[in-house]
Amino acid sequence: MAVKTVGVIGAGQMGNGIAHVMALAGYDVLLNDVSQDALDKAKSVIEKNLDRQASRGAISEDDVKAALARITTSLTLSDVGQTDLVIESATERESVKQAIFEDLLPSLKPDTILTSNTSSISITRLASRTDRPERFMGFHFMNPVPVMKLVELIRGIATDEATFNTCREVVERLGKTSASAEDFPAFIVNRILMPMINEAVYTLYEGVGSIESIDTSMKLGAAHPMGPLELADFIGLDTCLAIMNVLHDGLADTKYRPCPLLTKYVEAGWLGRKTQRGFYDYRGDTPVPTR
Ligand code: NAD
Repeated sequence: MAVKTVGVIGAGQMGNGIAHVMALAGYDVLLNDVSQDALDKAKSVIEKNLDRQASRGAISEDDVKAALARITTSLTLSDVGQTDLVIESATERESVKQAIFEDLLPSLKPDTILTSNTSSISITRLASRTDRPERFMGFHFMNPVPVMKLVELIRGIATDEATFNTCREVVERLGKTSASAEDFPAFIVNRILMPMINEAVYTLYEGVGSIESIDTSMKLGAAHPMGPLELADFIGLDTCLAIMNVLHDGLADTKYRPCPLLTKYVEAGWLGRKTQRGFYDYRGDTPVPTR
């Protein structure tokens, strides 16, 4: 099936990146959110990021104009039903995602492919509540979407080969590389990455090291481009906690127990960069550790 139009549900940090790369690759994009504020912010972030790519010479001014012209925004979910490929990228909460797919069903074209950018939730379970589990799969981008080269493609138990191949071709057209993952909690990248981040929070919680010494150790001692706590702030601490809970519940193993200090930060509403405070405080010129 040839994909021409892409519907992106959720215009947060991932949704705006997905709209950006899809439009740049020539797809017509309909970006949906429940919040007009989120849609306005997404449009301005996309414009800023495209301009930055143009100033580096990675793309031309004409590419920027053409990409922006391909993005339409809408607060009405049913508008998304007429697109060829839907990528749901709303808040990482299963009840939110289930409700979106349920509300979308009546307005869907028969052959629309449904996908979710979930970091951890069961693709098979999300698919089972729709009318097309064979045309449903995981389409998992990495953050920041315009920069990161990988997309994990996750087959639910019922996903058919044509759907998988169509999604793989879309990834190729984006100039990215796909890795195929089976549908088990948190798939590949987050199954490995999140326990490491959670362990870094335990290392802080138990007083083994400060925020700075933990991040410096992993940057200089393990050649990671970002420290684990810095990375957690970048991803969003609510998203990190949600993924740890999915690993803990889904694999029923205490080694995935979320660190109480991670829970505490989320309870405080200190969710990382997106709220200007997490393991670091971003309100000044340079980030300052919050413990
Ligand atoms: P975010 O909090 O930045 O954005 C979520 C957006 O969803 C918000 O704009 C919110 O208004 C919108 N939303 C909530 N309910 C909605 C609804 N019913 N209909 C339409 N929009 C709705 O979150 P994010 O970091 O962009 O994460 C989105 C998804 O991407 C999650 O499933 C997350 O697990 C996944 N993901 C995140 C990362 C990351 O590093 N943050 C990486 C890969 C995948």
